[in-house]
Amino acid sequence: MSSSADRKDAVAGGRGNLVVISGPSGTGKTSICNLLLSRLPQAVWSISATTRPLRGEESAGSSYEYIDADEFARRRANDDFLESAEYCGHWYGTPIGPVKRWIAEGKIVITEIDVQGGMQIAARLPESHRIFVLPPDFESLKARLAGRRTESAEHMASRLEKADGEIAIARDSACYQHFVTNDVLDDTVTEIIDIITNKQPA
Ligand code: 5GP
Repeated sequence: MSSSADRKDAVAGGRGNLVVISGPSGTGKTSICNLLLSRLPQAVWSISATTRPLRGEESAGSSYEYIDADEFARRRANDDFLESAEYCGHWYGTPIGPVKRWIAEGKIVITEIDVQGGMQIAARLPESHRIFVLPPDFESLKARLAGRRTESAEHMASRLEKADGEIAIARDSACYQHFVTNDVLDDTVTEIIDIITNKQPA
């Protein structure tokens, strides 16, 4: 079993870095990540593995790698994930292999993960940029989730209920260096690019 210091070095050996984008469902994290990828030439997207079923607009292999619970547990036990967490009854994890390779190649690896994952990354890769996206207000969050129309009312309610808790955990854990309110998408992305390219202090 390797020590946590060994594992940290094994991931962070290169010149690149990892960016964590977290925030409650419906805050626009996916749009932010897509814009970061189109505006930063050295950015790459880390495709997570998940046990949750494919949602309306998604396609297998580009949004997520969809695997069953047994396969997830096997990979998790094998230390194949940089971080992993259970969220609203489904498992999510960041495959470690591509992240290690990209960081060594000098890439900026963009991950969109929940607060539990953010905390694991803070411990394992302290030099990463960890950004928590806040909605301008609770009503806009509700409207965005309702507009998605790809989930059951029950699922949507569970995600809304989770939002407050996630914000509190993100603040209390102190593992995010930046809190960014996503009011105007383009401004939010510019602010995050300034953080990533070190134009803003951590
Ligand atoms: P969704 O089901 O809406 O795609 O994602 C649910 C939550 O899981 C979101 O907060 C999303 O950021 C998070 N998530 C997606 N991929 C990962 C991952 O690889 N690890 C962790 N910890 N969370 C993830």
